Amino acid sequence: MKVTIVYDNEANPGLKSGWGFSCLIEGKERLLFDTGDSGKKLIYNMKQLNIVPETIDKVIISHNHWDHTGGLKEFLRLNNNAKVFYPKSFSKPTEIFTGVHSTGALGTFIKEQSLIVNAGKGNVVITGCAHPGLENIIEKSREFGEIYGVVGGFHGFSKLEELKGIKLIAPCHCTEYSQEIRTMYPGEFRGIKAGSIIEI
Ligand SMILES: [Zn+2]
Ligand SMILES: [Zn+2]
Repeated sequence: MKVTIVYDNEANPGLKSGWGFSCLIEGKERLLFDTGDSGKKLIYNMKQLNIVPETIDKVIISHNHWDHTGGLKEFLRLNNNAKVFYPKSFSKPTEIFTGVHSTGALGTFIKEQSLIVNAGKGNVVITGCAHPGLENIIEKSREFGEIYGVVGGFHGFSKLEELKGIKLIAPCHCTEYSQEIRTMYPGEFRGIKAGSIIEI
């Protein structure tokens, strides 16, 4: 399974950065998770990364915030066959395709779903902003087995000890305590931005 960061607050050379998050998950199907805040930048980055929008099967929106839904309209203009799933689509954990589950909508005020991607190395949790609390998302995800990695926005997350035992820690987007996470888990930390590829 391959995860490509398409959109982030920071970007590799040749790509556009913008406040928001989006990644492509490629396994049995091709799944776009979130769409960043700008359709123009999203499509630009896809082109640069040789990702053809028309080949994407499904779009999962983590939560209804502009920095995750902003590129959806532009994307659907190019591909109106892709199935789109919002948090309310999954009130409880659901398998989206073989090896990829949604945690189901978590949180009280902001309903947000995260993904659990199962591949060779184990389960990797992918978050949009993690508004329900990364520690709660981790707890829910453990129902699917041991967690190998956590990737995405860790908004407001400060209970860094909850990451103990996780082998791949890749925060981006709205994470406040990246530096602290890097200091506490130097071997597990992986800096990612638009253009980064994670093979699981
Ligand atoms: Zn958000
Ligand atoms: Zn966000």
